[in-house]
Amino acid sequence: MSASTQVPEIFGSLVFNDHVMKERLPKETYKALKRTMEKGKSLDPSIANIVANAMKDWAVEKGVTHFTHWFQPMTGVTAEKHDSFISPTEGGGVIMEFSGKELVRGEPDASSFPSGGLRATFEARGYTAWDPTSYAFIKDNALCIPTVFYSYSGEALDKKTPLLRSMEDINRQALRILRLFGDTETTRVTTTVGPEQEYFLVDKKLYSQREDLILTGRTLFGAKPPKGQEMEDHYFGSIKPRVMAYMKDLDQELWKLGILAKTEHNEVAPAQHELAPIFSNTNTATDHNQLTMEIMKKVAARHDLVCLLHEKPFAGVNGSGKHNNWSISTDTGANLLEPGESPRENAQFLLFLSAVIKAVDEYQDLLRVSVANAGNDHRLGANEAPPAIVSMFLGDELTEVLESIANDAPYSPKCTEVMKLGVHTLPRFPKDTTDRNRTSPFAFTGNKFEFRMLGSTFSISGPNIVLNTIVAEELSQFADVLEQSADFNADLTKLVKTTYQEHKRIIFNGNNYSDEWVAEAECRGLLNLKSTPDALPYFVADKNVALFTKHKIFTSTEMLSRYEILLENYSKTIGIEALTMCDMVKKQILPAISKYTDKLCRSALDKRALLPSISCEMEETLITKLTSLSASLCKKVNQLDDELLKVKEHEGSAKELADYYKDVIFASMQEVRAVADELESVCSQEDWPFPTYSKLLYDI
Ligand code: ADP
Ligand code: MG
Repeated sequence: MSASTQVPEIFGSLVFNDHVMKERLPKETYKALKRTMEKGKSLDPSIANIVANAMKDWAVEKGVTHFTHWFQPMTGVTAEKHDSFISPTEGGGVIMEFSGKELVRGEPDASSFPSGGLRATFEARGYTAWDPTSYAFIKDNALCIPTVFYSYSGEALDKKTPLLRSMEDINRQALRILRLFGDTETTRVTTTVGPEQEYFLVDKKLYSQREDLILTGRTLFGAKPPKGQEMEDHYFGSIKPRVMAYMKDLDQELWKLGILAKTEHNEVAPAQHELAPIFSNTNTATDHNQLTMEIMKKVAARHDLVCLLHEKPFAGVNGSGKHNNWSISTDTGANLLEPGESPRENAQFLLFLSAVIKAVDEYQDLLRVSVANAGNDHRLGANEAPPAIVSMFLGDELTEVLESIANDAPYSPKCTEVMKLGVHTLPRFPKDTTDRNRTSPFAFTGNKFEFRMLGSTFSISGPNIVLNTIVAEELSQFADVLEQSADFNADLTKLVKTTYQEHKRIIFNGNNYSDEWVAEAECRGLLNLKSTPDALPYFVADKNVALFTKHKIFTSTEMLSRYEILLENYSKTIGIEALTMCDMVKKQILPAISKYTDKLCRSALDKRALLPSISCEMEETLITKLTSLSASLCKKVNQLDDELLKVKEHEGSAKELADYYKDVIFASMQEVRAVADELESVCSQEDWPFPTYSKLLYDI
């Protein structure tokens, strides 16, 4: 059998998916479960036992011995605790058992997960509960049950709970709008996401010689290699055999898990690649992206490679991001962000579009917060990723349509008639004409929006919680107006018109990487939140607490706890990097330089002993340079050490601590690095204590 004929067979073979359910569950149970999955109806507890047993039988047939609740705590990675299916029988034997109770609820120890103060005020206990809207699957010999994670008092401790709440919310609000347009068929609206994932691959032997990569995921030192990405020869270039073998293997593993891995190619930087799946509903896409990141790392190990997901593993070459392609679709198969064929469809499209425009403008701070972490601070605004300023790209055609409506003007020079919603059919916006702008942080690409600010390590949950909620808020405002309307078409036009007039400042179709845009954005009053500690406080701004509590996505306590966790996470990240830096300088770089200097001294002395008049200019110059640079490095690292000791003085507030790490520690780290990188460029290759950029980026 050829590999291509095997694909349909292996696809989803490790997933308790619809096909398996249909085959293994009694008809009534299957129907009840589907109602929960598709319509969000609450689950009848009596069916849990039947489902659990079927899941267990299916898994055991595949050699599985354990099960685990699989959840997404605030650590950024997924968590699991494996229990075996065994249950003792009389006579000293065991049978394999899995009850409905075990399927539905678990009790992992919540005290070891970040809770941002929730633990202090509430009980330490945490529970996991089955999320039947995401399929169970097999990984590492365990049946994994996707679950939500919450505290004893019901506060969400994870990233999935608020995401599910936000999906429910946008469903409710979008349905209100659809009903206004006379749509009685649609019963459920879902947001869809296709996340494009960037990553680097490096050789494992080289990786294991770098303490910084091992402990922090990025290089804290490294002089620029003679060749970086300036030749622009890597993007879409031919894929090296070793990388090809990795991608092939990765695809197979992802397909088994039912993940729709579709496109794989080289990215801009050397050793950088991208994987894009076919989109799915946001909950599934989020679970799948978490799994994809995990499997990427695992498969790399098999190939003696290491997959780096950090946003900025190497200075001087592009970092890695994640493009969150987002749209809204109905259970009747319509994409609500696609301009339609009829005037009615188009009026509806423009109303949804207006909701997104208003949402992105009013909640630009939340979108920025949703992509803030220490790693992404190296990218946003650094001339390779979209800037830290949130704006949106609509393309010239669509902008013209909105302009004409806003100005009661004819749409194009060719037509004389004024555009009226509910009367006119819009021109089609083919993907290739709208997709040209690659610099926009939030671009309309024909039938979806591409949110491009995410960092590569991110769970896509946060950004999508924000997107779903802010758009739901605007849709609810629109529905409030239109449900009371006596003249629907007139009020609809008015809404689209005023929304555009009031929020057009957020639309920018030009080059987002230019300095002019930074100045222009400031004139427009758009936010430019350059760092994580600058951005995070906006999360708990009154208007944002009001938004999330109104829509019941977060309680204000949950928001405050998350704010603490995000700040702590930033401080911890910089703290670990700084300590690693000090360690590498003191234990590796300075001793290596001392050894190399010593060699040069001995060589000069030997030369002179042999021939007193010989020139030792090369040795003398190098020795002088090495000595002065290493003295400077020593001084700077001692200063960093002292500053790290003073961290304690700033522990009073999480925000103050994060600011200290950014303004003092991070600033000193840059200085340490600059000197160390200069030393690398004058040190001999054999004496430099760890692999250089040239090796890491090209030796694969
Ligand atoms: P590119 O951004 O490279 O031009 P594509 O336009 O092919 O690539 O799509 C990028 C991603 O967008 C893919 O993961 C794709 O599945 C996803 N996508 C396409 N349509 C939708 C949609 N309606 N909702 C969400 N994601 C979508
Ligand atoms: Mg893209």
